[in-house]
Amino acid sequence: MMLQAAVVSVLLCSVHSFVIPASFDNTDESSGNSIDDDEFSVSTIIEKANRNIGKNVNDPLVMFGDIAVPTGLQNADPCTSRGCLWPKATDGNVYVPFRISPDYSRRERNIITQALRSFANPTCIRFTPQDQQRDFVDIKSLTGCFSFVGRRGRNQTVSLMRRGCVFTGTIQHEMLHALGFDHEQTRSDRDEHVRILLENVEPGTEGNFRRIRTNNLNTPYDYNSVMHYSRFAFSRNGRPTIIPIPDENAVIGRASVMSPIDIQRVNILYRCNDTALTTGPVPVQKDFLL
Ligand SMILES: [Zn+2]
Repeated sequence: MMLQAAVVSVLLCSVHSFVIPASFDNTDESSGNSIDDDEFSVSTIIEKANRNIGKNVNDPLVMFGDIAVPTGLQNADPCTSRGCLWPKATDGNVYVPFRISPDYSRRERNIITQALRSFANPTCIRFTPQDQQRDFVDIKSLTGCFSFVGRRGRNQTVSLMRRGCVFTGTIQHEMLHALGFDHEQTRSDRDEHVRILLENVEPGTEGNFRRIRTNNLNTPYDYNSVMHYSRFAFSRNGRPTIIPIPDENAVIGRASVMSPIDIQRVNILYRCNDTALTTGPVPVQKDFLL
């Protein structure tokens, strides 16, 4: 019960005005990308869209930023070594069934299907319309943009709110969660690459900056990952909450689409290159695939 109370307060406190205080001077802390620069980054778009999460009875009770947690506060990403990966088919591809709510317009539906299709060329992930499969991604427009991490079993919601979340990078971000990935700045070695300034973080949202014992797949820390928060994520005062180190001026969290390293990680986690099919013959059901 205490947990639920704490979580609700997190949600209610996550309103951000991004107003820069008059006294805010242009110190070293503010170099690199500015708040204005970050306006169209996936991280900022998601944060804005999620302002009202928690006010709707249908919203999940527990959230970390845009990660929905079904029960308790377990770290999800390590689940990829315990069975939350999507299964690999005998042809080497990984078919992830999805359903899209009829609430979307034709245009929105096209953007969503194009974003799902963007995984097919560089990886072995094949989002495919749900048919008889028990486990699938259920894409619908709830309050905000959010997803569970990894395959959770049966219909798992990915929320892409019609006003605020239907953009290619945002959709890729939420699908990467569903494939098993966490936010870049929560990975186990993040303290070697960024400094978290908790004194600038909106009280109650500190959980977004926790560190997770992630499997980093021998890939480098990636400031350009579509999963990296922006410099001002969850700021309470317009000052940075994440500063890259050692180069404080490096641009972070401004990706608008998946980075090459995001793609590389999908390929490693799902062993896409273990099969000749990714570069070989076209899958039989091609017409039905995204
Ligand atoms: Zn996220």
